[in-house]
Amino acid sequence: MYNKIVKHILFPLHEKILGRNTYACLNELKGSERLPKERLDALRFEKLKALLVHAKKNIPFYTQRFSDAGFDPEKMGAVDDFRILPLLSKEEIRTNLDLMKWADCPGGLHRYNTGGSSGKPLVFYFDRRRQAYDAAARTLTHQWWGADIGDRELYLWGSPLEAGKQDRLKEIRDRLTNEKLISAFELSGASVPEIVNRIKKFRPKSLFGYPSTVSLLCELSARMGYRLDNLGVEVVFSTAEVLYDYQRDTISKAFGNVPVPDCYGSREGGFVSHQCEKGVYHILDPNYIVEYIGEDSGESNSIEGEVVLTHLDAWGMPFIRYRTGDVAGPGTETCACGRTWSTIKKVKGRATDFIVTPDGRYQHALSLIYVVRDIEGVDEFKIIQHQPDEVEVLLKIHDALFPETGETTIAEGIKKRMGQSVNVRVNRLDSIPRDASGKYRYVVSHVKPE
Ligand SMILES: [Zn+2]
Repeated sequence: MYNKIVKHILFPLHEKILGRNTYACLNELKGSERLPKERLDALRFEKLKALLVHAKKNIPFYTQRFSDAGFDPEKMGAVDDFRILPLLSKEEIRTNLDLMKWADCPGGLHRYNTGGSSGKPLVFYFDRRRQAYDAAARTLTHQWWGADIGDRELYLWGSPLEAGKQDRLKEIRDRLTNEKLISAFELSGASVPEIVNRIKKFRPKSLFGYPSTVSLLCELSARMGYRLDNLGVEVVFSTAEVLYDYQRDTISKAFGNVPVPDCYGSREGGFVSHQCEKGVYHILDPNYIVEYIGEDSGESNSIEGEVVLTHLDAWGMPFIRYRTGDVAGPGTETCACGRTWSTIKKVKGRATDFIVTPDGRYQHALSLIYVVRDIEGVDEFKIIQHQPDEVEVLLKIHDALFPETGETTIAEGIKKRMGQSVNVRVNRLDSIPRDASGKYRYVVSHVKPE
């Protein structure tokens, strides 16, 4: 009963107070899920053109950029025409932030500061239009999995910033919309009983969080004898990080074989893609132009390459041909679910998920993760690359289980993958510190892949 009140009265009211048009956007997105490709393409072309015309007129940075490139959006005949524009890097955003804002944006601009996966913060602005489309995208894709507005949803969040700053407002908001936030910033054995207890009391239909955090909660709970499979959770949404298969398995099993759908997006890039019931990642086509820039070819539509985004509804601060640093490629042409939105192959990793070896190879972080994970008695760990040939491994272990040769095995395994010149230091700790963002990253490299 209460979930219906939330869905039909409180949530629309809440969005209205915030000046967001989320319901209209949601209906628009819903209406386009199964449009014929030609109509989708026409819609995206119109939206792209409108965005670019606006950017030329109202955003000084783009006025200059378009002029430099000899590009006139008014004369655009096809989407391809805008590929004459240079790609937009994070560094350019940092340098030109004030010139990238729409001064007269209706409803004003909201400043946002992301931790940035590279650890270097990125400040950007978003407006209500963009916020509404991103919120609508999230709502719609959650509906794909049976989680509707008003159903209880638990955020297992890792960010101390968000938990602190908006505590009170968020609390009231959550009570209204049937959402609840639990900070998992200091996730440890000591905090597990309370978290499990809070889930038990709230009984959410769905759970939403970083896969690293949620899977760690699952592992700790299992080890301490707490069951999660009888809490009524029907689906766990993974967000903000690459979801590894072993994490999906851990989470799914822990909550009683529930689905663990994944999304792809970022704070600055917005809500780009989500898995459908068939497990395929669909792009929110009406909201984006997505390109894959080949590393060697520089081609815009490579089989695999850096994901480059144009957010069609980010008018307050447009992101036009924005380099995400993520690597992926286009997926299959059609999907058995019947949606016509294009598909994307699972994002392979963030640029920071790769380690650059002393001889210049990119080694996926996962290969190092496996070296440490596979050793018995390893409770938690973190691998830090300080210099190309300097690697530190932080370990929290069960003394009784950890083999005598454990440290040697780790050092040898890492050397085997990165090169014999690498110096591996192992440090045993009582607990592994979190990143400033609250995310739990298994591998951190301070070596820039430039
Ligand atoms: Zn599908």
